[in-house]
Amino acid sequence: MTGDIPEKADFEKALADWFREAEKEENIFVDIRADDLHARIGDYPGPFHRMATCCEVMYENYNPAVDKILQFPPKGKGASMEIRYALPRVNAVPDTGTTLATPAKSFTIKCEYCHGTGRDVRNLNAQQKPCPAFGCGAVKSGLHSLPGKQEDYSSCKKCKGSGVKPGSTAKKQQVGNIYLPCPDCNGTGLTKTE
Ligand SMILES: [Zn+2]
Ligand SMILES: [Zn+2]
Repeated sequence: MTGDIPEKADFEKALADWFREAEKEENIFVDIRADDLHARIGDYPGPFHRMATCCEVMYENYNPAVDKILQFPPKGKGASMEIRYALPRVNAVPDTGTTLATPAKSFTIKCEYCHGTGRDVRNLNAQQKPCPAFGCGAVKSGLHSLPGKQEDYSSCKKCKGSGVKPGSTAKKQQVGNIYLPCPDCNGTGLTKTE
């Protein structure tokens, strides 16, 4: 680290260090908040903060089978995000990079709705359930294949790239899930530019 803008690797290291510390104390879990993790490498709140990257690293280490999301910020990324990680960490990071898409014909992207977890993490009462976006969930587990090339797509206008159906948070009284995947982009956050 050079004291410049924090990089993804800085967050990965800070999180790993935190895990090792908690493991030494023989805890069976550790609750980590995004702003606390960010504070460990400095600069939050500051002009160069990288909260989105910080949350991304937290999601990548999140294993739905053993961990639990305690707080989910409205936009999916934010200082208030908190995850309870089970300890010790034993190869908890799922390897999603093994399935290569056929070149040019289609490409694989991370599901925006579920942040690549393959679970319905948006709804705190349904975190263990598969992601409801069509083709994600049990089948693709956090990934989507889209036809064509990624350059042909741009951020979905309806959900502003969040993958979440706009207005689906308003129905809080409703029984069941509050958040739903965006119907225009199927939770991918991308629509074809034409
Ligand atoms: Zn998904
Ligand atoms: Zn959308």
